[in-house]
Amino acid sequence: MYEGAIQDLIDELGRLPGVGPKSAQRIAFHVLSADPADVNRLAGALRKVKELVRFCTSCYNVAESDQCRICRDPRRSEEVICVVEEPKDVVAIERTGEFRGRYHVLGGAINPLEGVGPDNLRIRELLARLGGGTVRELILATDPNTEGEATATYLALMVKPMGIAVTRLASGLPVGGDLEYADEITLGRAFEGRRAV
Ligand SMILES: [Zn+2]
Repeated sequence: MYEGAIQDLIDELGRLPGVGPKSAQRIAFHVLSADPADVNRLAGALRKVKELVRFCTSCYNVAESDQCRICRDPRRSEEVICVVEEPKDVVAIERTGEFRGRYHVLGGAINPLEGVGPDNLRIRELLARLGGGTVRELILATDPNTEGEATATYLALMVKPMGIAVTRLASGLPVGGDLEYADEITLGRAFEGRRAV
């Protein structure tokens, strides 16, 4: 263990997801020996992300104004909404170039073991959007794991009585996996082959 500021930095870095104690130590010493201008840029980016980034008031994707870039784009269809768990899933689907509709970011998936129920996700907000009458298809693109499937099943039950077509991405996605790790081609094909639920 080190003293003072360097140990504080190691401790903070070690709290980040995917950063173990050894990586935390390596990054801390890298910062210590780095050019002050580079370190200032990093510190500025950390501060700015909390100051400037908020959530889109329509779809809850990350945004730098009231609405995100996708919701502000008039060329994107308002008739199809793709439901995802996290903003990183929006990025993964955008990379495929297969989708020209809008998104809805739930902020997670139903997970009773961790105390996450429908009320903890942005499901009420989704139903309010669907109540507007413009949406014709809802694509459920939650992760292909237990929590994602439970969430998709729940949403299908809630939405189908509204007379909106509900589809789920085709198989081919790695089961138990995370949408963001699927390669573009697999995810693109899953999109094209989506099926009614
Ligand atoms: Zn948006």
